[in-house]
Amino acid sequence: MIEIEVDESWAGSRLLLRQLRDLMKGRASDEQRLERIVGLIARQMTAEVCSLYLLRPGNVLELYATKGLKPEAVHLTRLRVGEGLVGDIAARARPLALADAQAHPNFAYRPETGEDIYRSLMGVPILRDGRVLGVIAVQNVQRRDYAAEEIEALETVAMVLAEGMAGSELAGPAESGPTLRPARLPAVPLTEGLGLGVAVMHQRGIVITRIVAEDPEQELDRLADSVAAMQASLESVLTRSELADPGEPREVLETFRLFARDRGWLNRIQDAIRSGLTAEAAVQKVQSDTRARMEQIVDPYLRERLVDLEDLGYGLLRHLLGDDGHAAAARLPPEAVLIARNLGPAELLDYDPTRLKAVVLAEGSPNAHVAIVARALELPTVGRCPEAFTRIWPGDFLVVDADNGQVLAHPGHAIRETFAESMMARDRRKQDLAVIRDLPAVSADGVEVSLNANAGLLIDLPQVRDSGAEGIGLYRTEVPFMVRDAFPDVDAQTRLYRRVLEGTDGKPVVFRTLDVGGDKILPYWKGGAEENPAMGWRAVRITLDRPVLLRQQLRALIRASEGRPLQVMFPMVSEVAELDQCRSLLDLELELGRAEGRNPPDRVHVGIMIEVPALLWQLPAVFERVDFVSVGSNDLMQFLFAVDRSSPELARRYDVLSPPMLRLFKRLVAEADRAGKPISLCGEQAGQPLEAMALLSCGFRKLSMPPSSIPRVKNMLRSLKIGPLAAYIDFLAGQTCRSVRERLRHYARERGVVLE
Ligand code: PEP
Ligand code: MG
Repeated sequence: MIEIEVDESWAGSRLLLRQLRDLMKGRASDEQRLERIVGLIARQMTAEVCSLYLLRPGNVLELYATKGLKPEAVHLTRLRVGEGLVGDIAARARPLALADAQAHPNFAYRPETGEDIYRSLMGVPILRDGRVLGVIAVQNVQRRDYAAEEIEALETVAMVLAEGMAGSELAGPAESGPTLRPARLPAVPLTEGLGLGVAVMHQRGIVITRIVAEDPEQELDRLADSVAAMQASLESVLTRSELADPGEPREVLETFRLFARDRGWLNRIQDAIRSGLTAEAAVQKVQSDTRARMEQIVDPYLRERLVDLEDLGYGLLRHLLGDDGHAAAARLPPEAVLIARNLGPAELLDYDPTRLKAVVLAEGSPNAHVAIVARALELPTVGRCPEAFTRIWPGDFLVVDADNGQVLAHPGHAIRETFAESMMARDRRKQDLAVIRDLPAVSADGVEVSLNANAGLLIDLPQVRDSGAEGIGLYRTEVPFMVRDAFPDVDAQTRLYRRVLEGTDGKPVVFRTLDVGGDKILPYWKGGAEENPAMGWRAVRITLDRPVLLRQQLRALIRASEGRPLQVMFPMVSEVAELDQCRSLLDLELELGRAEGRNPPDRVHVGIMIEVPALLWQLPAVFERVDFVSVGSNDLMQFLFAVDRSSPELARRYDVLSPPMLRLFKRLVAEADRAGKPISLCGEQAGQPLEAMALLSCGFRKLSMPPSSIPRVKNMLRSLKIGPLAAYIDFLAGQTCRSVRERLRHYARERGVVLE
């Protein structure tokens, strides 16, 4: 019974698509054709109204045809993009279905249309190459909840319309594009750097000319062939040289390969073919459904998974259309900035990296897989730039400033020059600092300092090597957990930690156990929402409550270290009892390893992070129990000053370069020295030359920081006499002002300490 119903609906849908196609191709004038089309759609969708709005110059949507609204409104009713419900659909490039349209805050009443009697509205954008050409909307007198299938059906109709309009005047005159005024578009940095080039719209290479299929069976065969071909080409991408290192981008692509076998996704494409579409149109339709579903998903991790599916869809389209993707890469101008709504990791790799200078995504987040790959390729990339598709046009000259999260569209000559110079200066600076890499980390008065790197992903390792770091002072193990679909088991963790140890050529690595919770959310971990997550169930508070997690991680670290030293550090410890618990779990795992006859680590050094102020009154007992400590100044500062570290409003309110912090740092170093235990600092401050200067003068001899900061900090160190500054720091620490930053800066200037 169900089968028959489905078949009937497919037959109905096939008929509608064919009729539409024939109408689009017909000889009638544009006006007559559009009139018949809206009539046909209204009938098929059992709606009293069907209206077609097209985008005209000046970002205005003009009513071009209607069945049901007053005919005199045609060419008279015009809405700005973003104005009214139709404008909203165009601005967001996504469907809208409202049972009570007039109750919606964006509803804009246009008396000339006579639409006040229609209660419900469903509209979808007419999209081509990711760009909005117009909107098609249906309306009903009676209140009506439109089903998801109806929205999908209207989207399919919009696809057929978009393809039929291609090349005709209906698609909008070319001059609706660039408004060559300079514009600054805000965005979010996904990687670092600066890139200049001309805008190239992603997907432009894909032009679907055949929408409606004659023979569904033949289309299903084409799909099967292309899926097989795409799987084969994914295998070959995985052997590409920049991904040869077993690292994060490779893992990303491997997860992605699993999607290619996702039956649900393939079934949906097959269903779309059965409804009358060609294989390529079916893929494109499922793509737009995916996009629509994505809009409703709040969970950023799930959104990224759907982006990966989109990416696969485009791969499949290229196979179906006989374009293996390299053609798209070849079409890139020598200095290109790629513009996309979103991009999957494999899709990015299809472009020629020598021509691609930057990427701008309308969506995208820093944890997205594409960001991980872009970082590995050192490609300046920004995301969440909603105006990318309304203010940027192909061929526009763009400056992508990923450091500051902004895109400058068609900047004036002076701005271009400034950025070009700044880019050259950056390159020169990089080269100069590269020279510093092999120089010793010794101050101008002969004090040796250990400069280490913070890392969290395998793709950080080459940068750690290039930075001249003495070792990894903080390996944040939670980061690999955050980019996976499920908790890695002991074997997977062992492999990962082994790769870290092998990737650092025998240099010391301090592994910090899982510091999840707070802002570090694992997508597969169901912790309840907390009012104060930074002070909530996080780090060892979780892993001691769920000791299996910690034991598995410690087991993996022990196994990975076989014969090598193991340094393990526990985060967010608040009391000695927690430290004792952590140690006893470690001892249990060491014992287990011995019982299993495994090769044990050469030495085991245990440390904790000093991040919770309560520890400051337990230091002697802490030092008795640990081999080293590291000050997590990000959290320590947050808790001492009661200042949320992620609050932009509070970012400048309190200063780490303040008398109380200096006194605290000095005291910590003094107590560690008294106990004879090494102390380091691994918060962000360690990587800023002025702050690092103060920390060294407070007595720290080991710092750990982002690898990119090491050359600058080493440069500062080599120009600094620590002894004389230590005396001045004693004085500053006794003051009552809120910040000593300016005084320290002045000191550096006077003494020729290099802070750049
Ligand atoms: C810190 O708190 O200073 C620290 C290094 O840890 P994280 O930034 O990972 O919380
Ligand atoms: Mg911390």
